[in-house]
Amino acid sequence: MNPSSLHADCFMCGLEQSEETAVVFQDPLWSGELVPGYDVPGWFVLRARRHAERITGLDDAELASFGRRARDLVAAVTEVTGAPATYLMVFGENHPHFHALVTARDEQVPADRRSGDILRLRTERADPEAAARLVPAVRRAYERLAGSDAYPLPA
Ligand SMILES: [Zn+2]
Repeated sequence: MNPSSLHADCFMCGLEQSEETAVVFQDPLWSGELVPGYDVPGWFVLRARRHAERITGLDDAELASFGRRARDLVAAVTEVTGAPATYLMVFGENHPHFHALVTARDEQVPADRRSGDILRLRTERADPEAAARLVPAVRRAYERLAGSDAYPLPA
């Protein structure tokens, strides 16, 4: 990654230094990984590798590849966690550097913690060790799904 495309004071840019053990995949444009502070088991972040702000800051190559990366990461997380729903969320308020939060929502998550309210689990269910234990399986599922013609998956 060209360091000049990163901002020193940006949390998402700082993730370029993530431990390899946290990373599900990286390509020249995108990284999928476990992120400190969002380390609930089954939660991952898909982020642009350069400092591009919000979806309107993405270039054509990033836009063209985002959908496929998001699809494959959601599919891998869903497969490994067995969650009945996996959310793909983009806010861009606290961290404008474009990223999407992928959150597996399991059966035990109560009604008042579903949809947007799932973010309350960021502190309530933080478990960095359990979150990290999922990474190798999600990585393997991602690698298989990203290279497959399994789509569209059955509902
Ligand atoms: Zn950034």
